[in-house]
Amino acid sequence: MTFQYAPAPESTAIVNINSSNDLFINGEFTPGHGTPFKTINPATEEVLAEIAQANEEDVNAAVMAARKAYDKTWSKMSGRDRGKYLFRIARLIQERSRELAVLETLDNGKPIRESRDVDVPIAAAHFFYHAGWADKLEFAGYGTYPRPLGVVAQVIPWNFPLLMLAWKIAPALATGNTVVLKPAETTSLTALLFAEICQQADLPPGVVNIITGAGETGRMLVEHPDVNKVAFTGSTAVGQAIQRQIAGTNKRLTLELGGKAANIVFDDAPIDQAVEGIVNGIFFNQGHVCCAGSRLLLQESIAEQTIESLKRRLQTLRLGDPLDKNTDIGAINSREQLNRIIDLTKSGEDEGAQRWSPDCVIPERGFWFAPTVFTNVTQAHRIAREEIFGPVLSVLTFRTPDEAIEKANNTPYGLSAGIWTEKGSRILAMANKVRAGVVWANTFNRFDPASPFGGYKESGFGREGGVQGLGAYLTSEESS
Ligand code: NAP
Ligand code: MG
Repeated sequence: MTFQYAPAPESTAIVNINSSNDLFINGEFTPGHGTPFKTINPATEEVLAEIAQANEEDVNAAVMAARKAYDKTWSKMSGRDRGKYLFRIARLIQERSRELAVLETLDNGKPIRESRDVDVPIAAAHFFYHAGWADKLEFAGYGTYPRPLGVVAQVIPWNFPLLMLAWKIAPALATGNTVVLKPAETTSLTALLFAEICQQADLPPGVVNIITGAGETGRMLVEHPDVNKVAFTGSTAVGQAIQRQIAGTNKRLTLELGGKAANIVFDDAPIDQAVEGIVNGIFFNQGHVCCAGSRLLLQESIAEQTIESLKRRLQTLRLGDPLDKNTDIGAINSREQLNRIIDLTKSGEDEGAQRWSPDCVIPERGFWFAPTVFTNVTQAHRIAREEIFGPVLSVLTFRTPDEAIEKANNTPYGLSAGIWTEKGSRILAMANKVRAGVVWANTFNRFDPASPFGGYKESGFGREGGVQGLGAYLTSEESS
């Protein structure tokens, strides 16, 4: 049962949303030349603001501003001085953390508890971490004189708007590159607040440019001939299109794409802890997480008991107003994403899996999806193969470690995995055999700027974070 709490909504008084928003080019907010679009609060469907749409002319202006800043200031500046700007940005994110968290929750629909305790602090941590690298790049293992690449085009998704921005911008700036970034259409607001933070930090004009718009703006940015590197996070389909688009050019590319992670629980695992990890693995951020533990692999002997504990635990999750500090499950980011989740879960039922959700009241307005667990899932089911990107868990079972590995690797993706067991030797043996970029042991969905993140196979290539992530923005060649 769910305990009754009085509502504890976070105040929105701290944020000041402009009714119409410009692009951020060359250090200034500049009107866009495309048709503006609206962004809504997915929990209420209320329009929050109008956002400028960058057309070709605007994309061009942003890339030119980034080029000029690269040539004239940023690539010439010492690492020590660049680091000071990154430290300043990191501190400003901390100072304005409440504002950023509320704005992120309004625009994205994620619970305030998560934007406040996860997204914003880790975004700040990424700038602190990379600030520390800025004057030590010659010790990072990329040659004695590692050099920046030039102008970087960055395109990010809507599930962690500010955090993905930080993952992209912090390493690019620390290594001496300049940036043009396009946020996702449904979640531009924290990127625009970040642009204000760049102004507040006195970042030289043109070092960071933010151009808002839809997929077409992203396509034009990636295609721009004066871009030296493309960093993309999003769906595998768009990642593949980008790879085709820039084939034959000198542009460098990193892709962080989708996932269908296995969360593997052995019979010697501490079940209560594992249940917490399972819940965090798939219901964190409404399951809009590329590395979500969306396939639960339970050892057969403990399957029944674990599913029972899991269902009991799910009864206590609170779905509703994302601004309420007690909320666990917020709104689905868009109607489009909600429809995709509905379609895939319907296929689960049609293909014979058994569906279960706890009782919960779904608000009338907005986009919502109750936490859902499918049992009797086979590897052939669509819900076991395709990324749902929603609060939906598919449960499979296994008998032996070999069977667990075979099932875990039976996916076109390879982003992350979880292993729950008390045996250290088993953790190491499994981690070596599971084809996933990140393997968590007895925990799930933990992120640290010092730890590289990225995938195998259709989850993409290149790493973000850690010393490995710096390599994506550096070259040892004389001129780039
Ligand atoms: P998406 O449709 O691929 O969109 C990602 C970004 O690309 C958005 O900014 C989008 O703009 C833009 N875009 C769309 N078409 C484009 C094109 N032809 N050229 C250049 N840019 C284009 O993905 P999504 O639905 O927003 O995000 C969900 C996906 O992202 C999931 O598959 C998830 O697994 C993946 N993801 C991966 C990671 C990771 O680190 N591996 C992290 C988070 C999410 P619009 O928003 O305007 O369409
Ligand atoms: Mg929105």
